[in-house]
Amino acid sequence: MTNEIIKLNAKDIATKIATGELSSVEVTQAHFDRIEKVDERVHAFLHLTKESALSDAAKVDAKIKGGEKLGPLAGVPLALKDILAMEGVPTTAGSKILENWRPPYDATVVKKLRENDIIILGKTNMDEFAMGSSTEYSAYGPTKNPWDLERIPGGSGGGSSAALAAYEAPLAIGSDTGGSIRQPAAVTGTVGVKPTYGAVSRYGVIALASSLDQVGPCARNVLDTALLHKAIAGHDPRDSTSINQSVPDVVGAALKADVKGVKIGLVKQLGGEGYQAGVQQRFREAVDILTSLGAEVHEVSCPSFEYALGAYYLILPSECSSNLAKFDGMRYGLRVGDNVENAVEQVMSMTREAGFGPEVKRRIMLGTYALSSGYYDAYYGSAQKVRTLISRDFAAAFEKVDVLISPTAPTTAFKIGDKVDDPLAMYLNDVATIPVNLAGNSAMSLPIGLAPEDGLPVGLQIMAPVMGDDRLYNVGAALENALKEKWGHLLIEEVQAL
Ligand code: GLN
Repeated sequence: MTNEIIKLNAKDIATKIATGELSSVEVTQAHFDRIEKVDERVHAFLHLTKESALSDAAKVDAKIKGGEKLGPLAGVPLALKDILAMEGVPTTAGSKILENWRPPYDATVVKKLRENDIIILGKTNMDEFAMGSSTEYSAYGPTKNPWDLERIPGGSGGGSSAALAAYEAPLAIGSDTGGSIRQPAAVTGTVGVKPTYGAVSRYGVIALASSLDQVGPCARNVLDTALLHKAIAGHDPRDSTSINQSVPDVVGAALKADVKGVKIGLVKQLGGEGYQAGVQQRFREAVDILTSLGAEVHEVSCPSFEYALGAYYLILPSECSSNLAKFDGMRYGLRVGDNVENAVEQVMSMTREAGFGPEVKRRIMLGTYALSSGYYDAYYGSAQKVRTLISRDFAAAFEKVDVLISPTAPTTAFKIGDKVDDPLAMYLNDVATIPVNLAGNSAMSLPIGLAPEDGLPVGLQIMAPVMGDDRLYNVGAALENALKEKWGHLLIEEVQAL
């Protein structure tokens, strides 16, 4: 039974729970059984919330028995990235500096999940403070890719995407500052969406770079992702960047799945040189499918995208050097040097020395330098100008087309250890995902096949205008339906390493 339950998608689980064919307790237990069986090898989870999950599931079952009409994902289990605060539950953001820290409150997204009767299974592994593209920078050891356990599951949200691909959870939450939802989705054959900046509340989300961070939904198919998107999005007065507008009809768009007459732009600057041959091949095939479905596909030039990576690696470190200053051994988590008398400075520096990993230290130093007087205009100021140019490129492109597409990542999942000592090689994974974060619009990654040379999943990125997130789901679902028809199943059903 466990095997049958864990293979179900979120929507079907919810339907079966609503009709009494399955109970939420049964479904939740089946996922914990699966986690017990495989997570020693995958290491998607840092912490399980078994007790609260099973008691929440029992409450859902009782409500259903009592005849209450619940939301479309009621009773369905979910894996939560460890960057979101959950009351009383360890929340580390993958860092030693927050080891054993238990937040006194729930993030708004967690609150919304509860309101929607979604069951939280536990907290997933991630690169420390969401800096990285492989989950190797987690202070708690890497997560493995369920397609090949010697490979990375992407990052920073590799725990969430691996949990989906390993059938440990049918839904997951990620956060995306430069690609941390989309690149893991691409390399694990799953679906992930970075909503429009401000569309999902960040209250209770540990900040990396506040002008870029966005929380978003992840699942194994487009419709489940849409249902989760709808559950977590919406205005929150507790987040000053939250958009006070109604959420686009993402579920309706996923059900529509019709690209006839939709104008699609191929970004000239993304997908050429430097992209793996098999990634390029699967991408071209997906473009042919979209054309055959009636979309009008044109090439569109976004010249400033060439400078996106450089600008991002000035803006992100600058913001994170300021955001992470609060981890000083005084208020949260780790504290080292208590025995040193009257030496606040020393406690701070000893705590940071012991608590932060090398990538976090590197970025704090880069950011502090970029913001220092004398360099501010040359570095941070120039990067902000590039950011404006990128927004203008998007605006000009969206005058001509409805959505833009590109490969999500330049390569399929690489081997654990291959790039961990080469920061630039690691940064290049996000070359195609970063422009969207800089401009604040929305994007999705969905699986389009396995690369012929290594048999690993390839992702396609769809980019839409600000608050045009519904377009992602329409185009994504149309492509997913066509691919499913071609293969006879979803790509994820081919995952085999476990
Ligand atoms: N890999 C990117 C980085 O290291 C993206 C991080 C993210 O989206 N959180 O900054």
